[in-house]
Amino acid sequence: MTATRFSLLALTLLASLGAQAADKELNLYSARHYQTDEKLYDNFTQQTGIRINRIEGKEDELMERIRNEGANSPADVFITVDAARLAQADALGLFAPVRSKLLESRIPAHLRSDTWFAFSTRARVIIYNRASLKAEDVASYASLADPRLKGKVCSRSGAHPYNLSLVASLIAHDGEAKTEAWARGVVANFARAPKGGDTDQIKAVAAGECGVAVSNTYYLARLIRSDRMDDRRMMERVGIVWPNQAERGTHINISGAGMVKTAKHPEAAVRFLEYLASDEAQRYFAEGNNEWPAVTDVATNNPALAAMGKFKADALPIGTIASQVAAAQRLLDRAGYR
Ligand code: FE
Repeated sequence: MTATRFSLLALTLLASLGAQAADKELNLYSARHYQTDEKLYDNFTQQTGIRINRIEGKEDELMERIRNEGANSPADVFITVDAARLAQADALGLFAPVRSKLLESRIPAHLRSDTWFAFSTRARVIIYNRASLKAEDVASYASLADPRLKGKVCSRSGAHPYNLSLVASLIAHDGEAKTEAWARGVVANFARAPKGGDTDQIKAVAAGECGVAVSNTYYLARLIRSDRMDDRRMMERVGIVWPNQAERGTHINISGAGMVKTAKHPEAAVRFLEYLASDEAQRYFAEGNNEWPAVTDVATNNPALAAMGKFKADALPIGTIASQVAAAQRLLDRAGYR
C-alpha cells in the first residue's frame, strides 16, 4: 500500500467514524432543570442511542450565547418557555425551519410555527384576595383596569415575557388603541410599583398587600402541592379565576423548543423534538413543571391542576402572540407599565 492510498483510506475511515459519532450525540441548550427531565433525557438515550449533552443557563443568556457562538455554535436544540422568548429567538434568527409529519400530526397547529414547537402549555390566570374581593369583580383581564380596583393591582414588570405575551394577545384581539387604554387603566390601579416574580405577587395577594394580580398556573400548582403547611394555608386565602370564560377564553402560553440554525446534528435534533411529542415524554415534560401536555389526547394525573378545574383556553395561535410581542413592549412603555 502506498502512503497516498493509506492516507486516503485513513481519511475515509475517519470521515465515516466522524459521521457515526455525529449521530450519537445531541447538544441541548436548556433553561429547564427539573428532576423529571433526567428521566426524559435518559429515555431518549435508551431509545435512540443518542447521548444528550446539556448546557444549562438562563433563557436570555443561552440565546445570547448561541448568537455569540455564531456558525461555530455546538447547540442543536434550544428549549425555552414563553412565546415572547421564542419570538425573540426567531427575531435573532437562531432557529432553522423544521418539517416533520410526526410533529405536525401530534402538536396542534395553534401551538407551533415553522421553526418551533410547543410541548406543554400553561395559563395566565387572575388571582385575588378572598377577604377583599369576589371572583365576579375580576372575571376578565379587562377588569384589571376597572377604576373600582384602584390601589389593588399588583404586577411583576411589564417588560417580563409573561406579561408581554399576555398583552400581545390583547393587542391581537382588541387592537392597540383599546389595549393601550387598558394598560393605562391597570397602571392607575397599581397598589405598588411592579416588582418580583409571579410567586411574589401570589404572596402579596395572600397577605392582603394587593387585592389582585396575575400568575402562571404552575406557580399556583407548586404552592397548592407544597410540602410546607404554610404554603398550603397561604393558598386558602387566594382565589383563582380563569379569565374571560364568557368570551374568548384564558390566555395560554407554552414551553417550546426548536432546532438551532447551525445545528451540527440536525437528524438527532429532529428525532429529539419528535421524541418530546411522544406520550411518555409529554407526561414527563408537562409534569416536571405542573403544566399541561401540548398533545391533546395525553392525560396527566396532577391533583393540583385538577383542583383548579377545567377552563376554556384562548385558541389564538401562539405564533400570532409572538408576532405582537414587540408592539406589546412599545405599548407598555408608552403606558408607563414598567
Ligand atoms: Fe416561570
